[in-house]
Amino acid sequence: MSSEDKKDARHKKAMEKQKEKVDAHIAAANEERGVALLLTGNGKGKTSSAFGMVMRALGYGHKVGVVQFIKGVQLSGEEIYLRDKCPDVAFHQMGTGFTWDTQDRSSDMEAARATWAIALEMLEDPSFNLVVLDELTYMLSFDYLPEAEVLKAIEQRPREQSVVVTGRGGGAALRDLMDTVSEVKEIKHAYNAGVKAREGVDY
Ligand code: ATP
Ligand code: MG
Repeated sequence: MSSEDKKDARHKKAMEKQKEKVDAHIAAANEERGVALLLTGNGKGKTSSAFGMVMRALGYGHKVGVVQFIKGVQLSGEEIYLRDKCPDVAFHQMGTGFTWDTQDRSSDMEAARATWAIALEMLEDPSFNLVVLDELTYMLSFDYLPEAEVLKAIEQRPREQSVVVTGRGGGAALRDLMDTVSEVKEIKHAYNAGVKAREGVDY
């Protein structure tokens, strides 16, 4: 056998072993229910990943709700697209100009509560297949929303419904509750090299 043939044979054997493992995992995962996902960490990609799932779900004609807990000063492409092109997606943003510069804690809390009420309706409505709660973690870390109530609503949502929470931090209890937790880690970001936030990429 030539050395290339030997390499091929080794590769084939390794792949067969890998396939056995994957097949066993697939066979073991047979529970059918919605999942709760947390996308966290300090790197770029949390909100855009959540909107990737929105697109997936829409592909199957699923009913989708999106609630954004921060209203940036900048419009985002996903907001424009959903509002203009996807009237079926229930889209809501915390509409009071909440930004990182905000000083008015009591009006922020009021806005957070009003926005949470809309999210809660979605979390109680079994017709929603997917609910995205974008930047919800900050509402918990600032104590703008009662953690126990938020966690309970996520936990008690309809069995078939999936929920995606994005944002840095969020606390240990939220991590424990969620089925899938992914941390996007910054290796580097163009912004730090002086590149301006870019339409269609950053917003
Ligand atoms: P995106 O919306 O692009 O998926 P994100 O949701 O992971 O980003 P956020 O913390 O919500 O990140 O910040 C949103 C904005 O800040 C985006 O324009 C994003 O490009 C930018 N951003 C995210 N992470 C970083 C970072 N580590 N350094 C600089 N800018 C960042
Ligand atoms: Mg985000």
